[in-house]
Amino acid sequence: MSPQKLRQPLIGAHMSIAGGVFNAIAHGVEMDCATIQLFTKSNNQWKAKILTDEEVEQYFKDRVKAGINPVVAHTSYLINIASPKEDIYIKSVESLIEEIERCHVLGIDDLVLHPGSYLDTTEEIGIQKIVDTLNSIFEKTHKLKTRIALETTAGQGTNLGYKFEQLARMIDGIENKTRVSVCMDTCHIFAAGYDIRDKKSYEKTIRQFDDIIGLSYLKAMHLNDSKMELGRKRDRHEHLGKGFIGADAFRFIMQDKRLKNIPKLLETPKERDGIKMDKVNLDLLRKFHIS
Ligand code: ZN
Ligand code: MN
Ligand code: MN
Repeated sequence: MSPQKLRQPLIGAHMSIAGGVFNAIAHGVEMDCATIQLFTKSNNQWKAKILTDEEVEQYFKDRVKAGINPVVAHTSYLINIASPKEDIYIKSVESLIEEIERCHVLGIDDLVLHPGSYLDTTEEIGIQKIVDTLNSIFEKTHKLKTRIALETTAGQGTNLGYKFEQLARMIDGIENKTRVSVCMDTCHIFAAGYDIRDKKSYEKTIRQFDDIIGLSYLKAMHLNDSKMELGRKRDRHEHLGKGFIGADAFRFIMQDKRLKNIPKLLETPKERDGIKMDKVNLDLLRKFHIS
């Protein structure tokens, strides 16, 4: 996408591509989003339906008209590039390359990835496998610019990426650093033990992120409240201000100048009691933006 001024506040939500990738844009327009996130394919299947020229053309036409920028993509949940299981690993690598190619076609700069789960190996082996795999994938797709945005995780099971140090070590091992970024998920970091509920702890967490990873790598944020208490390592999203994080944290984020141009995306349930909850959550963020 040609560089254009980013709309403020730079907020939006994950949107469905059912019926065609352009439908995610239509849902974004409906909710007055400045930015959106989408899956470029079905998130729980290995196979991807081909993107037709007509589909892509309509997507760009609608996207430019709506002024939705950037669009962020999230990878399929099946991918695990730290997997010691050969068949899953091979499918994961092939699938990730295919998703990078689809992002390229759709003018998407950041593809969010859960770094991986080491299963019956070790943290050490898992991190090394992620680094080696990404280096090889970046080599194979060297003509493309799409970055892999490593997502901060809640630390369930053997998921890696729940400590800022783990993400820093992955980035450290990546040869072409122009191809890597980070997506911070508020529910996940909170589940992993990083507090953001009051101004002091929020500042401490952002400072830690900057010291250990570097804010220059932050290219996307997922704004989700948490159904679980601090440090429980369980990933359960809640509507903003309705969970254990509480509304204040989202006000700090909306008023943080360092995060002004970072796309902030909801990954919360779409409906509750027949009410369109994206609108409710986005309205709260808009209120914090100006107040
Ligand atoms: Zn994610
Ligand atoms: Mn997330
Ligand atoms: Mn999550």
